[in-house]
Amino acid sequence: MIKPKYPVPAPVINRKETFWTNPEYSCFETAKDRIPLSAEDIKAAEDRLNRFAPYIARVFPETRKTDGIIESPLKPVPDLQARLAGELNARVQGRLLLKCDSHLAISGSIKARGGIYEVLKHAETLAFQAGLLDPDDNYGKLDTNEFRQFFSGYSIAVGSTGNLGLSIGIMSARLGFRVFVHMSADARQWKKEMLRKKGVQVIEYDSDYSRAVEEGRRQAEQDPGMHFIDDENSTDLFLGYAVAASRLKQQLDGMSITVDKDHPLFVYLPCGVGGGPGGITFGLKQVFKDNVHCFFAEPTASPCMLLGLMTGLHERINVRDIGLDNITDADGLAVPSPSGFVGRSLQGMISGVYTVSDARLYRLLRLTADTENIRLEPSALAGVPGAFDLFRTEQGRAYIEQHGLAPVMANAVHIAWATGGSMVPADVMDAYYAKGKS
Ligand SMILES: *Cc1c(COP(=O)(O)O)cnc(C)c1O
Repeated sequence: MIKPKYPVPAPVINRKETFWTNPEYSCFETAKDRIPLSAEDIKAAEDRLNRFAPYIARVFPETRKTDGIIESPLKPVPDLQARLAGELNARVQGRLLLKCDSHLAISGSIKARGGIYEVLKHAETLAFQAGLLDPDDNYGKLDTNEFRQFFSGYSIAVGSTGNLGLSIGIMSARLGFRVFVHMSADARQWKKEMLRKKGVQVIEYDSDYSRAVEEGRRQAEQDPGMHFIDDENSTDLFLGYAVAASRLKQQLDGMSITVDKDHPLFVYLPCGVGGGPGGITFGLKQVFKDNVHCFFAEPTASPCMLLGLMTGLHERINVRDIGLDNITDADGLAVPSPSGFVGRSLQGMISGVYTVSDARLYRLLRLTADTENIRLEPSALAGVPGAFDLFRTEQGRAYIEQHGLAPVMANAVHIAWATGGSMVPADVMDAYYAKGKS
């Protein structure tokens, strides 16, 4: 047993909601040395997505209005903000916005960023190597039988609790790849059915996410024509997520929202293994540096990133090591061990991590639907209470003080990253909504 760096506080062990601020958080200039990626890498990912835009617009008509760019709305949610101030008996200084990745085209979750990006990059690499594609071509030509035939000679595998499987499965199958999605026991039935309908091979396990990933990895090791999408370690996935930052900057500019020393930006990101929130944090730090503060949100049953950062053990800790069961209705967040790559790289960039109980996720789901008519899946709500917890908790208030932010908090913008929901079938959503009543 390795000695943890910090003792794990009792509330975390006892499944109580916690707000933890990261003692290793440092200024951007120092923090950036821990990660072997740079702004140029994000730019290359963005350029690649732009090259694919004509193809995406062709095969997914819902993306035509954005010319094949998969991006989500950023919405002010004043009614939700007012309602929550009453419910939680806490006032947030500044404005609350919702980043609606729940409504991203193609797969309705944050995974439409990283997951789709990695599949496209792999397809491009194969087509370049075969001399079938040139960066200056119109990528619309990928939508032909010739290309589908070519890609059918290759396959893609991934392990997933559901949403990553949806993104990878839908995109890979559309290009013509053979695709295998290894699903954990907690994956929803409707996600498995949707994938099978699209010609994806779904392999089910009766254990959790880590096992599904292991099996996917093993399958790909035995087949040189198979690409394994590694949710825990992939820098491609990570960079696909990071592209969100420059696009968010454009959206903020469009709303005349400035981010600078006097106008801090706070972002609250639901976290599973860490790639999604990690990639976005990395991107945001490149753009806004010390003026953005990124907090991760996890279920009380699965605070894996919190434990990994707090103890310094990263992927070597499992929530079961402290007696938690990793059982939560927050799809995508039921992850027992965090990505060591993300935890180590972003040790100095993550401001903190807080936890949310499933009961609170359902309550927030209902309130968000009632006040803003926006329907999210339970995990996507984890970002919503962050701004309130920042002001409600002693740790949150200490963070504001420590960084000298008290005088400018009235100018703050708080973005809750709503990571999924639009693909949830109506009857499943109604059941979620009903659970938020009590
Ligand atoms: C996957 C997922 C997340 C978290 O992303 P990670 O990369 O696993 O940390 C958050 N919300 C939803 C809805 C997801 O599907």
